[in-house]
Amino acid sequence: MTVRAAFAAVPAARSRPPRPAPSRTRLTLTNALEDSSDRMRSEASFRRRVQRMTGRRPTEQKEKILREVTIPETITIADLANRMSERAVDIIRMLMKQGAMHKITDVIDADTAQLIAEELGHTVRRVAESDVEEGLFDSPDPEEMLEGRAPVVTIMGHVDHGKTSLLDALRKTNVVSGEAGGITQHIGAYQVMTPLGGLVTFIDTPGHAAFTAMRARGAKVTDIVVLVVAANDSVMPQTVEAINHAKAAKVPLIVAINKIDLPDARPEKVKTDLLQYEVQLESLGGDVLEVELSAKTGQGLDKLLELIQLQAEVLELKANPFRLAEGTVIEAKLDRGRGPVATVLIQRGTMHPGDIIVAGAEWGRVRALINDKGESTDGAGPSVPVEVLGFNGTPEAGDRVAVVENEARAREITDYRSNLKREKAAARLGAGRSSLADMMSQLKAGAGKKEFPLIIKGDVQGSVEAIVGALAKLGNDEVAARVILSGVGGITESDVGLAQTAGSVIIGFNTRAHKEARAAAEQAGIEIRYYNIIYDLVDDIKAAMSGLLAPELRETMLGNAEILEVFNITKVGKVAGCRVTDGRVERGANVRLIRDSVVVHEGKLSTLKRFKDEVKEVQVGQECGMAFESYQDMRAGDIIECYRVEEIKRSL
Ligand code: GDP
Ligand code: MG
Repeated sequence: MTVRAAFAAVPAARSRPPRPAPSRTRLTLTNALEDSSDRMRSEASFRRRVQRMTGRRPTEQKEKILREVTIPETITIADLANRMSERAVDIIRMLMKQGAMHKITDVIDADTAQLIAEELGHTVRRVAESDVEEGLFDSPDPEEMLEGRAPVVTIMGHVDHGKTSLLDALRKTNVVSGEAGGITQHIGAYQVMTPLGGLVTFIDTPGHAAFTAMRARGAKVTDIVVLVVAANDSVMPQTVEAINHAKAAKVPLIVAINKIDLPDARPEKVKTDLLQYEVQLESLGGDVLEVELSAKTGQGLDKLLELIQLQAEVLELKANPFRLAEGTVIEAKLDRGRGPVATVLIQRGTMHPGDIIVAGAEWGRVRALINDKGESTDGAGPSVPVEVLGFNGTPEAGDRVAVVENEARAREITDYRSNLKREKAAARLGAGRSSLADMMSQLKAGAGKKEFPLIIKGDVQGSVEAIVGALAKLGNDEVAARVILSGVGGITESDVGLAQTAGSVIIGFNTRAHKEARAAAEQAGIEIRYYNIIYDLVDDIKAAMSGLLAPELRETMLGNAEILEVFNITKVGKVAGCRVTDGRVERGANVRLIRDSVVVHEGKLSTLKRFKDEVKEVQVGQECGMAFESYQDMRAGDIIECYRVEEIKRSL
């Protein structure tokens, strides 16, 4: 229960004295966590509220008052009870009925809280993270400030159909040969000039999943998807996946039929195959633009760039370059020499060195902006990809970036977000009770399953994902690794805090702990392990998890004895006088009492006596006195089976 006990510490942040309330009605850390009904919108509404409370509510009447309950992404049971004016014990009781044991200070997630509130008849208003970020993103721009911007293009398609080669050919440099193992390791982004004179921004995503993950986090990055299909291979599973992703994102497709230089290229087959997935190419009377090309010979590349520009003109892409910049993190890594480096696609406004930026739970001051040619630049406008140096920590791919007015605002936002992140992790932790559905599946899966909680921090997203994937494959139905937090960057104090709550180990892959984190870990007795080879890491975890496996129990038969007579001895109780019929009996050994071939008792031998003396063992043929631990009902004629139990270590 130490995990639970430590939970009590989690909501402590809430009881901090509130900061001086800002005059704006924008949500801040403090008032986001208070009930919204306490928020003063205007004097009039305050008066209405007072009237409602004094006039319309008869205090002595016990009638239940149904409320609109504001629920943030995580909430303590005490807080929830307060907001609903219900008793916390009632909530705990409801949760208990669902099979989850909670204390009043436990943190539950919004879904669970909503279920409870609705069950009690209240209405729920969920507050999202975006409320705190009110005005941070997507504030409207005046029409006259808008200027044309370059289209942002993502190249998707089945593996080996030539995405990297195409991107590469377009940049007229060769990354493929420099790429480790031919896999696209990091998302890159580049700008290319079309023959018509316009710029096009290309993003190289490592996979469709990344594309969707970004979209899921509200980052609409791509304007146009170029679907690469190899003419010798035609439509493959990931081609279909890409079509679906593009459709879901409502982004226009341009089909690039690649590798037409090959003798077995059959572009016509590609065209007809695509019809099956509702992609009608222009040459077949549809409206999807297409081009046959070869990334190898360069044939058709100009045509592709032209088509992109034409498609972009139809989309009339515009943005206001004269404002504080907003964008999205395409990739982020912790660089040994330069610290956290984020590749950011600017989407509105212009970013300059010196700007205060926030992304996810990180913030910083822009130290330098590096463009796609590796040169330092002093301004990056809409659709321009840049490497941003100066973040205090490593944000995550897909995080939206914004320039804010000042450091205080940056801290306010990131404080709230990291708080939220921690609480979410904590809520997810509590016996896997992130939602009622989870609780149920947990119960079904059998409460006996042991979990090995881990926190993984790595240098780049790619390796963290690989580690998490490899760990997921470890384990069986008895033990499993549970990654409670994974991310890019150094190990922080908050990681250590989480590890303490979760009783987990912290793993650093090519990263190190910050000084404060190291001290905190030492103090809390949290183990931090460093690795630079995934194989070693997985091996060690496997060994550690094996230690959690229940040992196999193996019985070794010692011998049998028969009860000749039972004596009742004062102070000692019943003692059986026996003769060992085969093998031997030992003191402290396990015994079974067998009567008419039925096992009537299983337990331990408490006393073993020969004549008046306590002995260690008695051999076959000899007589002895035996007594059992907490069992008295033995009878003459019973057989005593004596055995030892050995524990045998198992491994995964
Ligand atoms: P990705 O997995 O989609 O990024 O594919 P790659 O760009 O890594 O290409 C896979 C393989 O196809 C590499 O061996 C390329 O040399 C080859 N390739 C790519 N484009 C062409 C092309 O137009 N013609 C030929 N003949 N080979 C190509
Ligand atoms: Mg590739």
